[in-house]
Amino acid sequence: MTEPKPRPGILDIAPYVGGEAKIPGVKRAIKLASNESALGPSPKAIAAYRKVAKDLHRYPDGGADRLRGAIAERYGLEPAQIVCGAGSDELIAMLCRAYAGPGDEVLYSEFGFLMYAISAKSAGATPVKAPERDYTAHVDSLLAQVNERTRLLFLANPNNPTGTYLANDEVARLRQRLSPQVLLVIDAAYAEYVDRNDYSPGVDLVRNHPNVVMTRTFSKIYGLAALRLGWAYCPPAVADVLHRMRGPFNVGAAAQAAGLAAIADHAHTAGAKEHNDHWRPWLMHQLAAIGLSTTPSVGNFVLARFPYGAPQAKAADAFLKTKGLIVRQMAGYGLPDCLRITVGLDDENEALTATLGEFMKTP
Ligand SMILES: *Cc1c(COP(=O)(O)O)cnc(C)c1O
Repeated sequence: MTEPKPRPGILDIAPYVGGEAKIPGVKRAIKLASNESALGPSPKAIAAYRKVAKDLHRYPDGGADRLRGAIAERYGLEPAQIVCGAGSDELIAMLCRAYAGPGDEVLYSEFGFLMYAISAKSAGATPVKAPERDYTAHVDSLLAQVNERTRLLFLANPNNPTGTYLANDEVARLRQRLSPQVLLVIDAAYAEYVDRNDYSPGVDLVRNHPNVVMTRTFSKIYGLAALRLGWAYCPPAVADVLHRMRGPFNVGAAAQAAGLAAIADHAHTAGAKEHNDHWRPWLMHQLAAIGLSTTPSVGNFVLARFPYGAPQAKAADAFLKTKGLIVRQMAGYGLPDCLRITVGLDDENEALTATLGEFMKTP
């Protein structure tokens, strides 16, 4: 019997497992598993979302023109070089499909975001990992993996789940040494949380080079993960390619309306950043005090490492669950001795550290 079969590679994909949202038997779990914004979306974005309800029979603006205009204004960019997507996930997948296929390689760093490998495989390409140093992407080890089959290099900056970042000059050095046929995709999903003098999300590199793309999202600091909205800043030729490939209405009207309102609410975004600026270091400090080391995260999450390895991390996760706390296990990333914890609301962060402290004290 012959039956329909997917292209080679598709069945090799280990499906992405998102952060859990529920614990059986627990009414109101504290969810610190998916790097969602602790403060949620701007009330103005919620109002804009609701207002779309009466027009649900209308197709959305296929070009997302107003939204692209607002993004361009907010970040000082060329609207024509912005492409919106249903989450940055969609843009990552489109870039893989457009630039890589069977026989091609898609490169990323050892603990890089899992979607790169999934999207590469779904395009029929081969994902390739380069070792990191100190839980941080390493330019020379990435460059050492580049060969004539390499088509794309994904760099999450800062990275999820490690929270570490590469400084400007290192990203520039990576681009400079990279063969010009390789498209460097800088995934700056957490850019708004970072304020380090030596960090930039990559706008200038996109401006000055035909082989650099930057992706951004409304899922993190803007708190709109449910609506699926992301965007890419691209050289004109890449923007043209993505516009040809994308569905004609790939971003829904509710996402566009809420995104427009969210990006205009500077006070809300500043509040979300301030909250994170206070609680991320607090979490790292508290975790250190109970014997857990963390990577130097600049995102809205921390990666905690357990001194007794994977069994201890697993036991801690199970203990947290019994107390209604959901964090993220990291075995899928090759970090089975770690848990990733998203910065939550004040009482959520306090509950998390108190419960983990209790766990660490139990022999
Ligand atoms: C959360 C995240 C994204 C955002 O994905 P969306 O599809 O826009 O929700 C992208 N890259 C990284 C590294 C992330 O952690």
